[in-house]
Amino acid sequence: MNCLFCAIAAGEIPSAKVYEDEQVYAFKDIAPQGPVHVLIIPKKHIDSMQAAGPEDDGLCQMLAAARQIARELGVDKTGYRLITNVGPDAGQSVPHLHLHLIGGKPLKWDN
Ligand code: AMP
Repeated sequence: MNCLFCAIAAGEIPSAKVYEDEQVYAFKDIAPQGPVHVLIIPKKHIDSMQAAGPEDDGLCQMLAAARQIARELGVDKTGYRLITNVGPDAGQSVPHLHLHLIGGKPLKWDN
């Protein structure tokens, strides 16, 4: 399968890694929307949150990774946003499930 984030998780395309475990990989977003902007992905290919199933126990691990990354990057106390875009109306541009962890400044809520 030709998937950008599968290739990043496999180390075939370079990325600025911030976290990795057996199920999860996380790296800095190439177009950051804040001082901290990390993408947290399952190593297993899942198209989006809508395509995830009960067998995808890596989702809990993605949330645990988010908490750890937030602590390590110093935004656990100031706060951060966790977003996953699903499908065209949400503007999902990479069809591999990912959480955006964004923080490091006060964030607005546009819509
Ligand atoms: P989304 O629009 O929710 O699908 O988010 C995709 C995100 O992937 C965007 O924020 C992009 O900036 C980011 N992105 C795309 N290509 C790369 C890359 N090679 N390395 C890091 N981030 C990327």
